[in-house]
Amino acid sequence: MDTPHDEAPRFRFAPSPTGFFHVGGARTALFNWALARRCGGRFVLRIEDTDAERNRDEWIDGIIDALAWLGISADDPTFEGPYMQSDNRQAHIDVATRLFESGHAYYCDLTPDQIAERAAAEGGAGYGGWSRDAGLGPGPGRVLRFRVPDGTTVVSDGVRGEVEFDNAVIEDFVLVRSDGSPVFNLANVVDDHLMGITDVVRAEEHLSNTPKQQMLVTALGWAVPRWGHVPVLVNEQRKKLSKRRDRVALEQYRDEGYLADAMVNYLMTLGWSAGDDVEIRPWAEIEQLFDLGGVNLSPAFFDVRKLGAFNGEYIRALDTAAFTGAVDSWLPEQWDRTRFSLIAEHIQPRLTTLSEAAGVVDFLFSDEPVRDTSSWDKVMSTDYAAGLLDAVIEAYAAIDPDGFDAATTKAELERVMEPFSLKLGKAQAPVRVAVTGRTVGPPLFESLEVLGSDETLRRLRAARADLVS
Ligand code: GLU
Repeated sequence: MDTPHDEAPRFRFAPSPTGFFHVGGARTALFNWALARRCGGRFVLRIEDTDAERNRDEWIDGIIDALAWLGISADDPTFEGPYMQSDNRQAHIDVATRLFESGHAYYCDLTPDQIAERAAAEGGAGYGGWSRDAGLGPGPGRVLRFRVPDGTTVVSDGVRGEVEFDNAVIEDFVLVRSDGSPVFNLANVVDDHLMGITDVVRAEEHLSNTPKQQMLVTALGWAVPRWGHVPVLVNEQRKKLSKRRDRVALEQYRDEGYLADAMVNYLMTLGWSAGDDVEIRPWAEIEQLFDLGGVNLSPAFFDVRKLGAFNGEYIRALDTAAFTGAVDSWLPEQWDRTRFSLIAEHIQPRLTTLSEAAGVVDFLFSDEPVRDTSSWDKVMSTDYAAGLLDAVIEAYAAIDPDGFDAATTKAELERVMEPFSLKLGKAQAPVRVAVTGRTVGPPLFESLEVLGSDETLRRLRAARADLVS
């Protein structure tokens, strides 16, 4: 038996490269990162690349970038790797040979068709261990199978407690395919051993592999890692998140202007709670509080609306300079940043994502506002619109351009709206539609201040002229 796990714990994240980074994978990585950081352990990145066909550098960069965005930095001393599973192929084969030599594994020459036929004839579901005693050696068309022992396998899981599996329902599973390639369960277990992994925390979908992996580890005389299987992420219909149905790529959220801190915080609430009602809290605190005992068993709903609410909170919490810095790459290059900075603090509280910013203030950066026809029709067809615009134009033309600020334009609108018996919201509507083209947007009077007296009056007059026709 190898030495028990008395050294600093070693966690790992073992993604299979798929071309994009799944939000569920991101959560698994963060759970492991929190655990490793909290106990002064290691976070090992292993890329399980044995099935993938694209260029290795591309995946490695994509995965490292996505992790770095989440705050899991390859430069941090907690981080180790990346290791590539394909680099260990020989070790996987050597261990398979060892299992064969020790009698824990045997070769089987039955084809899938033969197995299906025999299983059907015997009324069983799968492979019935038929080559166990055939005494076959390696050869073309032969797979290597693990000889599943009688009895039960008890998996001790940090989330689920003791989970007992009846070995009778686990068929003698394949370790090496007939083409000589090692199967996931073998490669995964060998790599975890070689990398000194003490704690395997991963998605629940791997729980069914775990008794097989534990049997392998035990047959090899290695130390069994501590297991932890975290609940799957599901969509609104309670179906497992799927890349065809749901938006699952972390990169997509990053590109839409979700802040990394908000995404990280939100992901950490999926299936875990610190036992209080607090959901929004900084990573430094999460890292101190996170443990597998607080992870629950039920599937966790990945709710994009709730993620948006988290993101809005995080955007609001930025100071203005941090906000303008963060939003910058979502603004068209040609926009005048000084002008944007005049309105920034007024739109910051209203955003769900950073990518919305440009569409909210575009009227400040174009010669003509883009008119939303339904807003125009609704607001400008009221019986007061023309009269009110006349009064506003007259009042605003009388304001000294140097004093054309939010407080003054607001006070003047409030004054001229009185004879119309309107509330401020109603009175603002024609002014807003005339100047911005829409009924919703950033605070009106601050927007007018940024546009300035000349441009505001020009737009008001143009709108008023269109009303006559
Ligand atoms: N490569 C496996 C996956 O991406 C993970 C295996 C594991 O964590 O043990 O699902």
